[in-house]
Amino acid sequence: MKAEILALLRESDDYISGQELCSRFGVTRSAVWKAVGQLKKEGYEIEAVQNRGYKLVGAEVYGENELRSRIHTAWAGAELHFYRTTGSTNLLAKQAGEGDAPHGALFVADEQTAGRGRRGRSWQSPQGANIYFTILMRPDFAPERASMLTLVMAHSVACAIRRLTGMEAGIKWPNDVLLEDKKVCGILTEMSVEREYIHYVVCGVGINVASQEFPEEIRDRATSVEAVYGQAVSKGALLQYVMEAFERDYDAFVAAGDLTPLLEGYNKLLVNRGRKVRVLDPRGEWEGTAGGINSRGELLVENAAGEIQAIYAGEVSVRGIYGYV
Ligand code: ATP
Repeated sequence: MKAEILALLRESDDYISGQELCSRFGVTRSAVWKAVGQLKKEGYEIEAVQNRGYKLVGAEVYGENELRSRIHTAWAGAELHFYRTTGSTNLLAKQAGEGDAPHGALFVADEQTAGRGRRGRSWQSPQGANIYFTILMRPDFAPERASMLTLVMAHSVACAIRRLTGMEAGIKWPNDVLLEDKKVCGILTEMSVEREYIHYVVCGVGINVASQEFPEEIRDRATSVEAVYGQAVSKGALLQYVMEAFERDYDAFVAAGDLTPLLEGYNKLLVNRGRKVRVLDPRGEWEGTAGGINSRGELLVENAAGEIQAIYAGEVSVRGIYGYV
């Protein structure tokens, strides 16, 4: 009930009477009073005025109730777990995947002590500033399609940042979301396969929201939403928008069997497009000009001989020849 009260208070500009809340939820006045008291204890500022009722003032308190009050998707984030701190949200989701957690279960943390990126790299996850989450999925498509989910998520995150701020978030193939050519989001997809079938897939996402300082080694290529936007943004609203976008994008992807429905949208956001790139293939690096992606999520790169090669994300990174993009 706390999350529902929060949602009602947030959506109303005026006071909501205790009586109205009682009848909405079919509970007593003292139950409403108790719930409001608990929200205040969590840090919400709720004004209570006699004969008028309750009104939410002040900022959101990022946490379980805030997210529950916002996320009303059918499955993406319908089951939600929030942790003040954890090693890695991918780890939590994988453990839950081994059990009976449902498709769409969402694991969110306010800090990760061992956040990870692709190929064993680390993801800086300081406390309080940013969004770290992993969504668990139980798809029934073939395992080789799972890596495309990373591109689906990159599309959803870029769309969510655009919706919230109006800024031109872009994508660096395959899995980084950028603002002004710097990374604001990284995505790590991992799966468990049993006899040719996907047991579960987890897609972990870190979005730099409020961080203003980054460690030396990533300073030149990392930024945050607020650093570029110049104003505070709501982490709750951003995560809500990501869940709404991802539910829509994932369902379209599954219905089509590949990235066809997202192709145009993804390619529009792709910052590599038309730019010279260096393909960091472990079998040998080469340079070419990036086009868009195909429906399997491979990046089409024209090499020096004028041939178009489709490169698969698994083992390959691309870099701009003058910088990160
Ligand atoms: P590449 O750029 O080679 O394609 P990647 O996209 O596979 O790398 P990820 O796995 O998404 O990389 O992220 C890990 C890398 O991101 C780290 O090696 C580091 O350079 C950088 N990084 C780590 N933490 C952050 C952060 N909070 N914000 C931005 N970049 C970060």
